[in-house]
Amino acid sequence: MGAGNLLKLLSTVYVLGSCSPPVQFLAVNSSPTAPIVYKQEKEAFKDLRKLVAEAEVEEAWCYVPEETSWHDIGLEVAVGNGRATVDYDLQKIGKLAAEHETLDFYHLHPQPMMMNLIAPYVRDPSLSRRYSKQRIKEIFTADAAVPSPDDLGSAIYLACTYQQPNRQQQFRFFIASHYGITNYTPQPELLTDFCRLFGGANLLTLATAFGKNILEELHPEVVERKIKRAVAGGFPTSLSPDLMITIEFIPYDRRGSVNR
Ligand SMILES: [Zn+2]
Repeated sequence: MGAGNLLKLLSTVYVLGSCSPPVQFLAVNSSPTAPIVYKQEKEAFKDLRKLVAEAEVEEAWCYVPEETSWHDIGLEVAVGNGRATVDYDLQKIGKLAAEHETLDFYHLHPQPMMMNLIAPYVRDPSLSRRYSKQRIKEIFTADAAVPSPDDLGSAIYLACTYQQPNRQQQFRFFIASHYGITNYTPQPELLTDFCRLFGGANLLTLATAFGKNILEELHPEVVERKIKRAVAGGFPTSLSPDLMITIEFIPYDRRGSVNR
C-alpha cells in the first residue's frame, strides 16, 4: 500500500469514525438524482437566503415536515423574454404525495436572476422617464415576493393532481425571495370547484390564466410599500385580497417556522 492509499484509508476511517453526519446544504441542481437534504426548516432558510442572494436561476424543493427532508424537484430551468420558469419533477412529486400527508413546496426567486429579468425594463424609456434605475431595481426587488402566473397555475395543478382530499392531505406553496417568504397556498374551496370543473387536459393552462387574473389586481408600488412596512415591523402582510389563493408575505426576521 502506497502513502496515497494509506492517506485515503485514514480519511475513510476518519469519516466513518466521526459521529456527526456530513453537513448538507440546499443547492441549485438540475439533475433528477440530486441528493435529499435533511435539515430543520429554520436551518434550511439560511441556505435558501444564501441561494436567493447568489443564484442565477430558479430552483425548487419539496419539504416533508414529518421527516425534515428536502427533495430537489426542480429540473430544467429557462430564463428569457422577461420570464423565468423551472420544470418540476412530477414523478418525484407523485411518489412523495403518495407517501406523506403534508408537503411544503418551496422555490426561489433569486436576486441575480431578478436583476437579469428586469434589465429590459431598466432600459425602457417609458419607465425610465418616470423612475430612476435605482427605483426600478427597488420596486422589482420587492416584487420578487409575488408569485408569477406560472407559480399560481402550477400550485393549483399540483394540488388538483396529487392532493387527495380523502386523506386530509395538505400541500402548501412558498417562495423565498430577497425580503422573506411568500405563502401562496390555494384554499380548499377553490380547489374543490376548480379541480372538478377544469381537471382535464387543459388544467395547467386554465389554472395559469386564473392566476394571471388575480395578479393583475396587484400594483408593484403598493406591493413594495406593504413589503417594506412588513420588513420594518417584522410582521406578515397579505399581498392579495383574493380569498381563494392567500398570498401572504412573511419577512425572514419574524418567521421561525411555517407550522403555525
Ligand atoms: Zn416563481
